[in-house]
Amino acid sequence: MNKVMKKTVSNVCALKIPRKFFCSETVKVAGSTDFVPSNEHEKRPIISEVIPEYDIAIVGGGMVGMSLACFLASMPMTKQLSVAIIDSNPALGSGISIQREDPPDPRVSTVTPASISFLQDAGAWKYVEQNRHAYFKKMQVWDYTGFGYARYDAGDVNKDFLGCVAENKVLHSALLSCVKDSDFKTTFYPLRLTSMTLNTNSMSTVKESIPSKELPSAQGHTSKLQLSDGSSIYAKLVVGADGGKSRVRELAGFKTTGWNYSQNAIICTVEHTSANHCAWQRFLPSGPIALLPMGDNFSNIVWTMSPTESNDRKSITEEMFLKDVNSALDDGHGPHPMSSSLGTRDLFSWLKMDATLSANEFFEIPPKAIRMASKRMVFPLSLRHANSYASKRVVLIGDAAHTIHPLAGQGVNLGFGDAFSLSRVIAEGIALGSDIGEVNLLKKYETDRKPANVAMMALLDGFQKAYAVDFGPFNFLRAAAFNGANLISPLKRRIISYASGENKLPIFFGA
Ligand SMILES: Cc1cc2nc3c(=O)[nH]c(=O)nc-3n(C[C@H](O)[C@H](O)[C@H](O)COP(=O)(O)OP(=O)(O)OC[C@H]3O[C@@H](n4cnc5c(N)ncnc54)[C@H](O)[C@@H]3O)c2cc1C
Repeated sequence: MNKVMKKTVSNVCALKIPRKFFCSETVKVAGSTDFVPSNEHEKRPIISEVIPEYDIAIVGGGMVGMSLACFLASMPMTKQLSVAIIDSNPALGSGISIQREDPPDPRVSTVTPASISFLQDAGAWKYVEQNRHAYFKKMQVWDYTGFGYARYDAGDVNKDFLGCVAENKVLHSALLSCVKDSDFKTTFYPLRLTSMTLNTNSMSTVKESIPSKELPSAQGHTSKLQLSDGSSIYAKLVVGADGGKSRVRELAGFKTTGWNYSQNAIICTVEHTSANHCAWQRFLPSGPIALLPMGDNFSNIVWTMSPTESNDRKSITEEMFLKDVNSALDDGHGPHPMSSSLGTRDLFSWLKMDATLSANEFFEIPPKAIRMASKRMVFPLSLRHANSYASKRVVLIGDAAHTIHPLAGQGVNLGFGDAFSLSRVIAEGIALGSDIGEVNLLKKYETDRKPANVAMMALLDGFQKAYAVDFGPFNFLRAAAFNGANLISPLKRRIISYASGENKLPIFFGA
């Protein structure tokens, strides 16, 4: 039994409560063994009659659930809260350690400057920077028709970078380390939520939050969560951060609107002869292909196509797959765009006086992939949105509230935005002495986030549909849109601000 295990067990014993779960008050020790491994829990259950109580139960310790824990840990008003995190993902139990030289993962996220700033303030970003990641300053987007392209440069908006690509395991481990290295009181349950009874009575919280073991019993004012090993916990607020197939959403009766796209995304990591510093995206008849810099000589491919094509491309040889990728990012399906194609550039020549840095940059061919550096993975794509994010004692964040098309790499960024907003609303509730499970309080979070999430979903869905059509006049309009976005500086700056997460609503909603 290691030092941390001993400490954990002694913490449990000190409470003199025989518990059927492992309480890991966060310890100031970094490393992979701070948390009790999940199988340890399964092997040695101690049946308890006392059901533990928490201020908040976060169901789902993915990137978004863990970011909420980080944001709560970083504020004086919320760092006293007692929080349970429920997730059977072994990475949470064992605290899998990440090494910079580990082989790259196929799952990555493009993190916007706005999200980076949230994560920096919470103290999580420094852990991302200890591992492989890639800030990118330039982006090129173009079209298979050869009519249009747009280049973006961080300098257009006086910024140092447009975004940063990091492997999901790096982001997740950074958030986990941030929580572990804080003195925030979290208890990890390496289990799944199976059912839930929401209690809708109210109770005000004291202004200065006190650890919940000192609070008078609040079971009449909390919800009961049943876990996959048959044990239960109580919580004043249940946060559903359990992804697109959210059990919390289902159990709480939140309705959703959405549809499945008849498209899959095939993702993988490839290697180049030298480092790639630009994010590339080309729109093909079957969907977009993106080549995202990952650091070292690696890039990530996110390629949307029909389910039949994705199944075929998953099983072809590496050599054939690489050939397809290089062709899709070069002149497969159509020619390279020319700067003056169809005269669309000239159409906007009257605006050249106010040109951005990147407006006169020429089209470039992306670097060639020379080797596969990960396995290929396939994801079916869908759009799903919860009609409501909050009701009494329960709230949804991240993919549990909204699942979007990955073409703009915004999904987890919207989730970080949700978690940040919810953490502020909870802090405000505590400051006012409100019950943190009170619906009026939680609706403030919904009001803050819903317009931004809906706008992003609508925009990406529109894009997806625009590219599902291959018809002459449409192609011209798309080309004009690309060239307009490339040459009209105010439009371009606002596109960059929106994609960076600085503007919550897209260009047509005003500044
Ligand atoms: C191909 C692809 C590329 C993408 N690229 C980007 C990108 O570049 N940038 C970007 O911002 N977004 C991107 N996304 C979207 C992004 O990956 C998601 O938005 C993000 O992972 C959602 O995080 P989450 O924590 O909300 O949900 P999830 O990552 O789904 O995590 C949910 C967690 O809940 C747990 N869970 C589930 N059910 C239960 C239960 N009953 N009890 C307890 N725990 C449970 C799971 O184990 C999991 O750990 C991409 C998505 C895809 C498919």
